[in-house]
Amino acid sequence: MPIRTASCSCGGLSAVTAAEPIRISVCHCLACQRRTGSVFGAQARFPAESVTITGSSKQFVRVGDGGSRIIFNFCPTCGATVYYVIEGREEHIAIPIGAFADPTFPGPGFSVYEERMHSWVRMPKDAEHVA
Ligand SMILES: [Zn+2]
Ligand SMILES: [Zn+2]
Repeated sequence: MPIRTASCSCGGLSAVTAAEPIRISVCHCLACQRRTGSVFGAQARFPAESVTITGSSKQFVRVGDGGSRIIFNFCPTCGATVYYVIEGREEHIAIPIGAFADPTFPGPGFSVYEERMHSWVRMPKDAEHVA
């Protein structure tokens, strides 16, 4: 199994993964745009037991459209989000793909909220389009 390390900008908060991601997705929704500062969020979901977190984090809770609570964990020093969980689904941990700083990381299988997608963005042809 590949060992990968995600970390914040200053290195104070990191997540080491010891399994392949279960699901890799991109989300174009406006909340993900605001959270990331980018024009879409890209994240990989892992089994929680395969992820080792090091360092302290602060939390921001976002309530999703369907009422689900998403708990984002970000570095209190540099502000970068390193992982998040959906309340009630703690068996999974999601990690922003950019936090791995690894251009060889596998691409997304799912593209979500494309009605909010910026006009110049192009998704992989084989990605499944969700909502
Ligand atoms: Zn940091
Ligand atoms: Zn989103």
